[in-house]
Amino acid sequence: MVGLKVLIIGRLPMMGGAAFMGLFSDYLEENRDRVGSGEIDPCLILSSNYGFNNYDTVYGSLDKYVEYANNIKAQNEIGKELINNLPELEKIKAEYLVASKIMLKCLNNLDLQTELVSDILETLEKQLDQAYKQICKLRKDIDNKIKIGSREIAVLPLEPESSIQKRLLKQIMNCILVHMSNGVIINTSECRRVINDASNIIRSLLMENYAWPNKKVFAYYLEKQFQAKKGKTRCKNCGELLYREIPYCINCFERNL
Ligand SMILES: [Zn+2]
Repeated sequence: MVGLKVLIIGRLPMMGGAAFMGLFSDYLEENRDRVGSGEIDPCLILSSNYGFNNYDTVYGSLDKYVEYANNIKAQNEIGKELINNLPELEKIKAEYLVASKIMLKCLNNLDLQTELVSDILETLEKQLDQAYKQICKLRKDIDNKIKIGSREIAVLPLEPESSIQKRLLKQIMNCILVHMSNGVIINTSECRRVINDASNIIRSLLMENYAWPNKKVFAYYLEKQFQAKKGKTRCKNCGELLYREIPYCINCFERNL
């Protein structure tokens, strides 16, 4: 299992290309790319309505603001635009904090049994924390350059916590399923534990106490959220039909590769 951490946190060199073209996407990998390209909302917990979603754009405006020190009219224009966008920035910042708290709660309260799933949660939590710190720094940089004074910043309503939970769940499940569809889980007992972990996260983040076995909760989410369908291939161990995109039997956990 040691290699898994490297696979998740690293660049996934052996999993590029066609393997990702399926139903599931590796959000953690995409988040890394977004952070790398300077986007402000790497986890897409919230997409900005103001085109205010890129560090470079915002820092570009700040530089211009400083440059226009001799042109008060132009400077005021840029300053006004930056100040108008502050409520949106504050909203994103607050939602990152909520999202981080949700991830920490999962990590602390759910007794996760696999390194694969704990790594995914830890990585997502770190990304959220990093995004939060980046946005705080941006906020501070704006404050330092523009004299906001005692002007009140409007407070926008936050996205409900339950809907942030659903978004995080989808990201987590996508990551788990990308790894499953790539066949990285090598044995039956590991597969059972991954499905148990995933089901516990589903119950917790959807706040549903499904009275079903874990594998049923997992299959239900798979079908409901991803419209996953069973194909014609049967499990070589128990004969159950397999989902087309996943080389594991959700019934007996056998790897069918
Ligand atoms: Zn089976």
